[in-house]
Amino acid sequence: MRTDHSPAPERTADQDELAADLVRRYGSPLYVYDLDRVARAAADLRAALPEHSRLYYSLKANPHPELVRALRLAGCSPEICSTGELTAALAAGFDGADCLYGGPGKTAGELRTALAAGVRTFSVESPADLRRVGAEARALGVTARCLLRINGAGAGAGVGLRMTGGASQFGHDITDGLPDLAELTVEGTELCGLHFFPLTNAGDPQGLLAEAVASIRTAAALEAHWGVPLRLLDLGGGFACPYAAPGGRPRYDELREPLTAALDEHLPGWRDRLEPAFESGRYLVGDSGRLICTVTEVKESRGTTYGVLDSGINHLGGLSGVGRLPSLRAEPLRLTGTGPDTGAEAGAEAGPDAGPDAGTGGAEPARRVALVGPLCTPADVISRAAETVPPRAGELLAVPNVGAYGATASLLGFLSRPAPAEITVRDGRVVSADRLVLEREPLA
Ligand SMILES: *Cc1c(COP(=O)(O)O)cnc(C)c1O
Repeated sequence: MRTDHSPAPERTADQDELAADLVRRYGSPLYVYDLDRVARAAADLRAALPEHSRLYYSLKANPHPELVRALRLAGCSPEICSTGELTAALAAGFDGADCLYGGPGKTAGELRTALAAGVRTFSVESPADLRRVGAEARALGVTARCLLRINGAGAGAGVGLRMTGGASQFGHDITDGLPDLAELTVEGTELCGLHFFPLTNAGDPQGLLAEAVASIRTAAALEAHWGVPLRLLDLGGGFACPYAAPGGRPRYDELREPLTAALDEHLPGWRDRLEPAFESGRYLVGDSGRLICTVTEVKESRGTTYGVLDSGINHLGGLSGVGRLPSLRAEPLRLTGTGPDTGAEAGAEAGPDAGPDAGTGGAEPARRVALVGPLCTPADVISRAAETVPPRAGELLAVPNVGAYGATASLLGFLSRPAPAEITVRDGRVVSADRLVLEREPLA
């Protein structure tokens, strides 16, 4: 099986013109999300999964209601982990009943709110979590369908960021034996399936397949052990997408057949009783978003050129807590025609698809360049010592592939600057323009 990549989204002059126009209208910096790309990613991923699979969108990646709405129209369901994500899903037109509510440490209050909003499907991380769901469901006189999240042995593939497989706050360990049904029989709940999420951001389809097959085997063993048919089998995801760097999404087309075959082999008759499900955040929205920012100042220090931007880790870069990137290495692209003197160097871009002169701009030699944000901390580095064309004050840069884990995964409150504007576009036209606001509210 090869690792195929979709062609990197094309950067057209049109797109850059749109970005520059948006900055004129809404100010810099801003995120621009292309809703057509969201729909394309959803269609690509669906084509890679067994037929009749449910595809969950993990709102953690980007809870912007327009993106969530676009994914609803593309046939996805919301995977949520907080009251705020529930609110975003409802704002995007979903019903509570469409949601899968997961995450460790769900509190009684959060569960009550979710159940009252009609959420009936929960992924529980432990028997204690299951009992909390049961208590709140009973109080409301309803039954919650629960998936038990499993921390299995996994396939041991060294790909992506491992979420379970060792000690983990996620899922119920099964390395010391399969859990007893008695412990999982809780009034107010109905155990209806299993949830696996062994890894994230696995660009290698082979490794991803191995994990999914390991999960299917475990599911079959548990089904036999419990004697209770599984009705929803969430096999997780791990589908990769470049982050803050140029490039295309990997293609997973070749997963459909072997995944279907594994279900046929280990869970015969699954089509009549069981819905397989998959989850994705970054694959579905990662390549839809670009962060457009402006070079405020260029200064030299001991051999390095610093480009000071109007956007830093307050807008992009909380990812260290979410992914496995130790520090941000964004690769901003120069927007065509936005420099102060656009004539002479209009063709010079730092992007990978630029010509052989890329990085030199004709006359200027490549040199050490650090792009930093405006925050008063040496940690506010967007990209360090990039071998690229020195930025020029006043020009616009675009950080590609930041539709996932961008704005809301960042240090929005640090240094008390406004959140970036977030603009959604479809077919080149603005659908929405807004920004998040962090407010202090008095407590009663
Ligand atoms: C974070 C998370 C996801 C989404 O991960 P991506 O790498 O963005 O696809 C899906 N499911 C669970 C349980 C998660 O914690």
